[in-house]
Amino acid sequence: MTENIKRVEIRVDVQHAIELITDIFKAKSCNDNEAKTIAERLAGSNLVGHDSHGIARVPRYVEWMEKGWVFPNLKPEIVIDAGAMGCLDAKQGFGQVAGEYAVDDGILRAKKHGVSVVGLRNSGHLGRIGDWAERAADADLISFHFVNVRGSLLVAPFGGSDRRGSTSPLAIGIPSKDKDHIILDMATSTVAEGKVMVAQKGGKQLPHGALIDSTGKLTTNPEAMYGKIRDDEVPNPDMGTGAITAFGLHKGSGINFMMEMLGGALTGNGVCGALNEKERRKFSNGMLSIYIEVEKMVDFDYFRKEVKSYADFVRASKPSHNNDKVLIPGDKEFSTKEERLKFGLPVPPLVWENIKQTANKLNVENLERFENAIK
Ligand code: NAD
Repeated sequence: MTENIKRVEIRVDVQHAIELITDIFKAKSCNDNEAKTIAERLAGSNLVGHDSHGIARVPRYVEWMEKGWVFPNLKPEIVIDAGAMGCLDAKQGFGQVAGEYAVDDGILRAKKHGVSVVGLRNSGHLGRIGDWAERAADADLISFHFVNVRGSLLVAPFGGSDRRGSTSPLAIGIPSKDKDHIILDMATSTVAEGKVMVAQKGGKQLPHGALIDSTGKLTTNPEAMYGKIRDDEVPNPDMGTGAITAFGLHKGSGINFMMEMLGGALTGNGVCGALNEKERRKFSNGMLSIYIEVEKMVDFDYFRKEVKSYADFVRASKPSHNNDKVLIPGDKEFSTKEERLKFGLPVPPLVWENIKQTANKLNVENLERFENAIK
């Protein structure tokens, strides 16, 4: 399968993008705060370089609202309240809002008990999971987030050639009082599905081995995921016959499996799919989070010094190829954010056009703002 995609990008001002996207979700009856939260988190994801979970998702979120997969203006309900343990049911409300409630609940419990375990079920798309580790790190907590994507069968297990898993992200946050937290944030598939979507729209090309087609051949062609689509269509993974590969061979595939156990089965969200079910499961993110209060284990200054000293030790490793620097988790996101705050978000023109088409359909006013936002 060879691909024929033109790769170009424009630069879009972050604040302008947030305002326009806020207006789109307000037009879909999200309250002002929810609309702004969704817009800020999507644009925030682009800022740190995760375009897969950024503004390119806007047409798909609107489509999901229309399909009844996600509902506006819902507050998650606390369904388990047992000291250090809790669980929230988002009832298919927006993940950007549900995620904040769930993390804040985990922070409160961990501040009281030193550690907490909080589940979140039936959540709309939680976006970039690193956001939640960052929120906990801002409260000086270490956190682990195990996430599954019910109803989203996209990933082939190690040795398999068809879709049995979700892209199930994992995030771990290490706090620093200076706010330069260390955040590992990764899909347990070779790439997040959004990266395939962005590549399909002319963004960054996929790495070798990211996809497998229905004949079992590795490919980088997004057609394996979406089939052939028109420029104005929202890429729909149901239309492709291939899959994304699990990361890290058999070991990564095992971690991908465990995300379903923790984020899916344990939270009550449900795993991504099952044999012999007639109906596909409804989309939702499930997230199991563990929070640890550093001070309850060791002195924070000691912890911070050890963390910094090890980070510097690792970064000082002699690069194995080119003149690339050795990075630790989160370094790339920090430098990308610095650059994008200055020069704007790089966006494939087709992505920007698709967001404008969505705004136009919803009668959002002053569409010339789309042109004005381009730097
Ligand atoms: P990625 O591969 O770009 O980065 C993964 C991790 O590797 C990051 O912590 C990053 O800091 C680190 N990293 C990147 N380059 C590095 C280098 N050269 N050296 C050392 N470390 C490096 O991320 P991804 O796996 O494509 O995930 C993208 C986003 O998708 C994440 O924010 C994730 O949370 C999100 N996601 C969300 C869902 C959902 O259902 N909500 C599903 C899947 C993925």
